Amino acid sequence: MPDGFKIIDKQFAKATAPDGSVDLQRLKKMVAATYEDFERDVERIDRSMRLMIEENDRLTRDLEATIRALGLENAGYAPALENMSHGLCIFDADNRLLVANSRFQEIYDLPKELVRPGVAMSRLIDAIKEHEKGRGCTTQEGLGCMTLGKTPGDSLRSEWALANGAIVEVVATRVKDGGLVAVHEDVTEKRKAQAHIERLARHDALTGLPNRATFHEILNSRLSDDKAGNGIAIYYLDLDRFKAVNDTFGHAVGDELLRQVARRLRHAVRDKDVVARFSGDEFAVIQQDVADPEAVEMVAQRVLDGIGNRFKINDHLFHIGASIGVSLFPSDSRDADRLIKNADIALYRAKADGGNTFRFYEPTMDANMRERRSLEFELQAAVENEDFELFYQPLFDLKQNRICAFEALLRWNSPLRGRMAPAAFIGLAEETGLIAPIGKWVLRQACREAMKWPNDLKVAVNVSAKQFKADHLPLLVAAALAESGLAPSRLELEVTESVLLQNTERTIDTLRQLKDLGVSISMDDFGAGYSSLSYLYRFPFDKLKIDRSYVCESDADDNARSIIRAMTGLGRSFGMKIVAEGVETRDELQVVRSEGCGEIQGYLISKPVPANEIAGLLAAQAAAA
Ligand code: C2E
Ligand code: MG
Ligand code: MG
Repeated sequence: MPDGFKIIDKQFAKATAPDGSVDLQRLKKMVAATYEDFERDVERIDRSMRLMIEENDRLTRDLEATIRALGLENAGYAPALENMSHGLCIFDADNRLLVANSRFQEIYDLPKELVRPGVAMSRLIDAIKEHEKGRGCTTQEGLGCMTLGKTPGDSLRSEWALANGAIVEVVATRVKDGGLVAVHEDVTEKRKAQAHIERLARHDALTGLPNRATFHEILNSRLSDDKAGNGIAIYYLDLDRFKAVNDTFGHAVGDELLRQVARRLRHAVRDKDVVARFSGDEFAVIQQDVADPEAVEMVAQRVLDGIGNRFKINDHLFHIGASIGVSLFPSDSRDADRLIKNADIALYRAKADGGNTFRFYEPTMDANMRERRSLEFELQAAVENEDFELFYQPLFDLKQNRICAFEALLRWNSPLRGRMAPAAFIGLAEETGLIAPIGKWVLRQACREAMKWPNDLKVAVNVSAKQFKADHLPLLVAAALAESGLAPSRLELEVTESVLLQNTERTIDTLRQLKDLGVSISMDDFGAGYSSLSYLYRFPFDKLKIDRSYVCESDADDNARSIIRAMTGLGRSFGMKIVAEGVETRDELQVVRSEGCGEIQGYLISKPVPANEIAGLLAAQAAAA
């Protein structure tokens, strides 16, 4: 029975007396009351239906307004929204969803039935939270509804890390009617690429180590973190023979060597220490919690040992070394720049002391280094301006009793420091590579000058060991000869034993090539250096120049005299001419002559003189004869 009939049934029952008579009055009242109730219900339903329709209209209006606000009305917004690569959702002023595209639903993997108009933002937020699993910023921040301003146009950008690893960027914007539009972009790949670029910018691509800028940054933060004053050591490191490997075996081998060096460095320090590559073959280390200098010495030695072990690349074995400069925080400085600079200064000293060693920074190094740097700068300028001059010192043939050659000796006429002897700058020129242009100038100048002399006079030119390292020395010599027209037989090249210490096979090959040009080769300063007889066996020198240190002691010291005797004997057996250097007195002359030296050079004959005095010297000799 329908509900209406049940009510009437009950009312009938109530109006019916036990004898079956019906109280019509009462029944009428009851039915009227029921009807009023019914009417009220209808009205209520009617009212709420009207409200719903109004609400619906409002929602539609809002949606239209939003669409207008987004400028989508002419484009046919639905397909446009659906084809967006971004997720989009629009809420009304009461934070109820007006519209969302399926990309929005996809990004957060939300149930389809949840993402429908009218759903409260809070419900969406709850659902998204499921996926968020507590990572990244809070969901509310993500949608921006908490902090987003109320003024139309206010906008808030935030980022949202999801449990699946995705990163979503949300831009929420307040629209005119108080609602908000949120655009959601999956930026996972973008962020990865950014992170990669950032890593590249902060790290050295070859070794993966932090670069100089990053090292600096880390050092700064470590310095300010070291409140307890535990001490920090900064190591500045430079490989000793890297350039030679790189030049000889190519960049691929050089690169691999640097990678291996990086690994060994990392291995030599603790995890919390920082190893960085500055550039080329320069590395740096930050060592934390340095208790005392001994701890630093230990690490420095460990690094040297590590790099001193041979490297194997493509079946080649390499021995390189390293030089290290160390500065200490806080004793040397409290400033990152200064500490790095000090370590660099100490490195300079380690290199100057022969390499394969470490040096702690000392304040006096600073002045020395500044002096060296300015000297280097001036020498560079001197090369450009050719501020050089050759002096010439005669070599005197004792049998023929005449000058047989002149040795060209370099002078630097510095506008600031005056005339300088080679001892003051040749070392620096060798270290900086400036010896190449200087050596070339000397060769050409000496050959040109010798062309002005009588044909029976030779010219001797000193060649540095560093010049032998370049492949083209024979070419330079040939060019200087060709250019000047000097006969090769009139040119003598003087090399020291240090030439033969390096890369012997190649050196000997170069010496042969030089000899094949027709020039002669003298061993200079014999006995001053490492004096190994094996050199004399391995290469047929034309001349042996006995170092001045034996000659000047020869008249007083029997040992010096017997060494001279041994040298002349040796020279003779190899068919070499013997020259005594630095003969200053008649007594010395007497000794070296009696010990079998065929030529002498020294102040006794003449000091080195400028080119324009040579003619005078020769004239005086002729007059004396
Ligand atoms: P060196 O080749 O052994 O030249 C001889 C040096 O001894 C010269 O010094 C000369 O002035 C000095 N000397 C000569 N006789 C005497 C003497 O009787 N007593 C004393 N006390 N000294 C004497 P200098 O000109 O200062 O040259 C020094 C060194 O610099 C040279 O030694 C040579 O190794 C190097 N040098 C000079 N010119 C050049 C150059 O053009 N290129 C290269 N690579 N090195 C050069
Ligand atoms: Mg010489
Ligand atoms: Mg000499």
